[in-house]
Amino acid sequence: MTSTFVRRLEGKVALITGAASGIGESTARLFSKHGAKVLIADIKDDSGKKVCEDLGQSSASFVHCDVTKESDVEMAVNTAVAKYGKLDIMHNNAGIAGIANPNILENEISEFEKVISVNLKGAFLGAKHAARVMIPNRRGNIITTASICSTIGGVASHAYTSSKHGVVGLTRNIAVELGKYGIRVNCVSPHLVATPLARDFFKLDDEGCHGVYSNLKGAVLKPEDVSEAALFLASDESKYVSGHNLLVDGGFTIVNPKFC
Ligand code: NAD
Repeated sequence: MTSTFVRRLEGKVALITGAASGIGESTARLFSKHGAKVLIADIKDDSGKKVCEDLGQSSASFVHCDVTKESDVEMAVNTAVAKYGKLDIMHNNAGIAGIANPNILENEISEFEKVISVNLKGAFLGAKHAARVMIPNRRGNIITTASICSTIGGVASHAYTSSKHGVVGLTRNIAVELGKYGIRVNCVSPHLVATPLARDFFKLDDEGCHGVYSNLKGAVLKPEDVSEAALFLASDESKYVSGHNLLVDGGFTIVNPKFC
């Protein structure tokens, strides 16, 4: 029996921040494969343009966008509308890990603010400007990449954990506020994913993970594992899912290590 490939985002327009690398890049590729027009927004121009080239000019384009700058985010959203006529899916995915420092007395406020600025303020600005163009259409879909650090502490830096708890709170508030306009708002929260961010932070090598994670259970995911969850949230198959934090962690955050 042959199975037919169903393009689950046919006719949709998606803007993905941090799509020049890692999870965002993988999600851009998957969304494009499923029929979406994709706008790749990142500060890494060369890598972002390369992803667009791979996807083809008719399917994807690149916009330079620093998510900490409101004018950049506003312009990225306006570019999606100008180029493709609308914005259906806003994926706030850009993020940084910051410096791992378990000692709060040594944490620099500048470092804390840097991480909050990209991870939390960036998601706020993305949601704000996406909502601006989605509300008149009475539909839309906002997804933010959070993390298992949105539900547990002690895995990453104070700033990172705070930012990821923050985006879940932001998501819940906006989901309530925008529900009446047919706009759904959710988070996808991965466990450790083999990307440049995690390799740098946890000193992963290509074979797997070492250090912090070596005595904890939990697989190292591929970016594609997270993109599939984002695809579910972006597609109409999740039409009644809103205000949700979808953990993609193989049960890591609910496991009691005593029983492993
Ligand atoms: P990555 O480093 O591969 O990709 C992050 C992308 O974000 C890069 O292309 C980078 O240029 C971009 N970016 C950084 N600052 C930006 C800014 N100010 N404006 C616009 N773009 C910016 O990392 P990744 O692992 O793919 O991370 C994607 C998201 O997934 C992040 O939000 C991260 O916190 C989250 N996440 C990652 C892991 C993991 O283990 N890799 C786990 C849980 C959550």
